[in-house]
Amino acid sequence: EASLERDNWTTDSRNGQGFKGHGMIAPFTPGWQIADVNPLVIEKSEGSYVYDINGKKYLDSLAGLWSTSLGGSEPRLVAAATAQLNTLPFYHSFWNRTTKPSLDLAKEILEIFTARKMGKVFFTNSGSEANDSQVKLAWYYNNALGRPKKKKIISRLKGYHGSTLIAASLTGIPALHQQFDLPVPFVLHTDCPHYWRYHLPGETEEEFSSRLANNLENLILKEGPETIAAFIAEPVIGSGGVILPPATYFDKVQAVLKKYDVLLIADEVICGFGRLGTMFGCDKYNIKPDLVSIAKALSSAYVPIGAVIASPEVSDVIHSQSNKLGNFAHGFTYSGHPVACAVAIEALKIYKERNILEQVNNISPRFQDGIKAFSNSPIIGEIRGTGLISGTDFTDNKSPNSPFPPEWGIAAYFGEMCEKHGMLVRVSGDTITMSPALIVSPEEVDEIISIFGKALKDTEDRVKELKSQ
Ligand code: PMP
Repeated sequence: EASLERDNWTTDSRNGQGFKGHGMIAPFTPGWQIADVNPLVIEKSEGSYVYDINGKKYLDSLAGLWSTSLGGSEPRLVAAATAQLNTLPFYHSFWNRTTKPSLDLAKEILEIFTARKMGKVFFTNSGSEANDSQVKLAWYYNNALGRPKKKKIISRLKGYHGSTLIAASLTGIPALHQQFDLPVPFVLHTDCPHYWRYHLPGETEEEFSSRLANNLENLILKEGPETIAAFIAEPVIGSGGVILPPATYFDKVQAVLKKYDVLLIADEVICGFGRLGTMFGCDKYNIKPDLVSIAKALSSAYVPIGAVIASPEVSDVIHSQSNKLGNFAHGFTYSGHPVACAVAIEALKIYKERNILEQVNNISPRFQDGIKAFSNSPIIGEIRGTGLISGTDFTDNKSPNSPFPPEWGIAAYFGEMCEKHGMLVRVSGDTITMSPALIVSPEEVDEIISIFGKALKDTEDRVKELKSQ
């Protein structure tokens, strides 16, 4: 609610633009009300910046939705799209018909994903579709193996996996479930690996990881290992608040999954393509997945595209049973859309040519250290991050157990102050998150830190004022 109560400055700065009657339903906006709450309408982008329809400039510290990794004005991506639109704007990939860009992109993805050898790629239009497809694939695989009961999927509280029925079920955020009778019954949730928030007194990170791996094992045993098909996890949880895995977490979890023959699905939709300073999150945390979901930075978000990557073991089973299975009866009109694939091929080329990993690793200490320098603010509980992703939790007394009253809307207020000072951040609950474009310059990082500092000062004043009332 707090974010609906716009201060006058916002209304003024947006010229009180009204869009009543335009009729658009906006995602993740209260009560279908975008027309009534003075939306921020973005018109133009340029590198790390976007401009609204009144010409106000904002540093987009979230790169769209963790997605516009090459910034908002990369001419090579535009040229790749234009060339493809002029040659073959569309053809599908059904019934063994396909297009060259989709074949080439699949090959390129398999070359670039080196955390372990992978075998096959299936194209989708989004991260949600990729994760929905993962569940169907895991079922298809277990049906091929004659294990019809092995169908349940385990995901984690605060994990985000998308918004379609199954992806929203996998998502471990109650707000995505409550109004939609979710999660579906075959999806189970296990612990969120946020050490600062959930560790027991005196528990080390390693001990915390052991406890979570034990809980996972107990859940699998309670349900019966013969009923558990897969476990899905983001290497670093993004939308749930930028939660980094505690030390030894993925080693311990992977050992449990192996023991009970449970597939590991790595959701790389945010982490993939350099965000953490490694090409994939799997590289950073030594994750050896059976299935991988990608989207967002695959095309730097210029056009919608996602994909599922499957290991050779999974694809071998499906190949060997193809007589029994018949057609893989799954696919989207736009699976492997040639324009999206052409743009993605170009994006991957740019990542390589400009050595995007080196860029991220060079700039990341400036960004992380700059933001973490605010950790001692009395209204901040924890600042965490790695590479070019960052999360800040607002809380009272530095304790995860003393949140500010929700009606104060402290993180939302911080977000509004950032906007006032010319920067867009993401607000979710008590947490704000940032993930600038991977091409962010040192000067832009300094600007992010400077605006963060100004908005923090405003928010500290606000807390003082609210406490004194
Ligand atoms: N997985 C993760 C980790 C994501 O962050 C998102 C989107 N924020 C999705 C899946 C869903 O992707 P999409 O919105 O493209 O469906």
